[in-house]
Amino acid sequence: NRKVVLREYINWAPREDDMVLVDGGEVPLRVPEGSPPAVLVKNLYLSCDPYMRGRMRDFQGSYIPPFKPGSVIEGLGVGKVVDSTHPGFSTGDIVSGMTGWEEYSLIDRPEQLNKIQQSDIPLSYHLGLLGMPGFTAYAGFYEICSPKKGELVFVSAASGAVGQIVGQLAKLHGCYVVGSAGTNQKVELLKNKFGFDAAFNYKEEPDLTAALKRYFPEGIDIYFENVGGQMLDAVLLNMRTHGRIAVCGMVSQHGLTDPVGVHNIYCLVPKRIRMQGFIQSDHLHMFPQFLSDMAKHYRDGKIVYVEDMSIGLENAPAAFVGLFSGKNVGKQVVCVSHE
Ligand code: NDP
Repeated sequence: NRKVVLREYINWAPREDDMVLVDGGEVPLRVPEGSPPAVLVKNLYLSCDPYMRGRMRDFQGSYIPPFKPGSVIEGLGVGKVVDSTHPGFSTGDIVSGMTGWEEYSLIDRPEQLNKIQQSDIPLSYHLGLLGMPGFTAYAGFYEICSPKKGELVFVSAASGAVGQIVGQLAKLHGCYVVGSAGTNQKVELLKNKFGFDAAFNYKEEPDLTAALKRYFPEGIDIYFENVGGQMLDAVLLNMRTHGRIAVCGMVSQHGLTDPVGVHNIYCLVPKRIRMQGFIQSDHLHMFPQFLSDMAKHYRDGKIVYVEDMSIGLENAPAAFVGLFSGKNVGKQVVCVSHE
């Protein structure tokens, strides 16, 4: 049962060799006798998410505890139940939830798993479009951004797992939507696949404030913040009065010992901007509605979805590290096994 373990706590941007692939011994076939009700899962797809970087540091003060050095990395995944002593699950069920970066995982808190009804929608999409990142986009856009038809919306890291869905929801809502991304290939995707009104490569813009002014001559009503740093600073100067900023993430600031200062925060006052951080799990009451809306939008062709699939558990560390340099094109997942 091969597994990926954390070598030691880090306080730098994650590198591939911070994680090690180890032989975890024989593949378990059954839930051990006498243990509390549990589920043995064969992992099919694993999700690489930026928040996992925070679990690699020795910091107890977060909303989620750190990993343990030498122990398997935990993350969201989709798997197949191969044995169960829990009345809610049977062999053959497909489930999503917290699992390990290993071929087989013994889940001792099966209550946190969701059963997936197999359908025409690929199973790995339950880690993105129909999973946590898609839900982050949905809850963040509808609950935090208070959007109105016709408003002007800017999304950063716009081609990623969360950003691509935010932009498309905003278009469906009747907004004008511009996205930024770090390569020209991603910019093409934003314009030609996800239907953004405009998009730009922030790495090719010497002056972000001027770039935003070009796309938003009348200013921005809603900023869906994914990256932080200089982009956030430039957006603050371009916000309209009574604008909203949903602070979803600040991926450029993860792991920096000396985070980039945001100088234009004073703009919040004269422009009466509401800037609000949020964590998707505080909004889980919306999850059933999200699932049904999103599956319908997808089937109706109103929302499209791009994922970046890395094949093989051994490639999980590289796939994860790639999130922090923008290697992923769309939602990053790892296929451990197709079935
Ligand atoms: P993505 O799929 O968007 O992958 C991360 C992307 O961030 C990269 O592809 C890259 O895109 C961009 N990026 C990486 N480093 C930098 C940098 N230094 N400066 C600017 N951009 C950078 O990830 P997700 O969609 O999963 O997550 C997006 C954000 O949402 C993250 O900040 C994450 O932490 C946050 N999040 C928050 C949740 C919540 O509940 N609040 C839940 C889920 C995610 P590019 O090539 O465009 O630079």
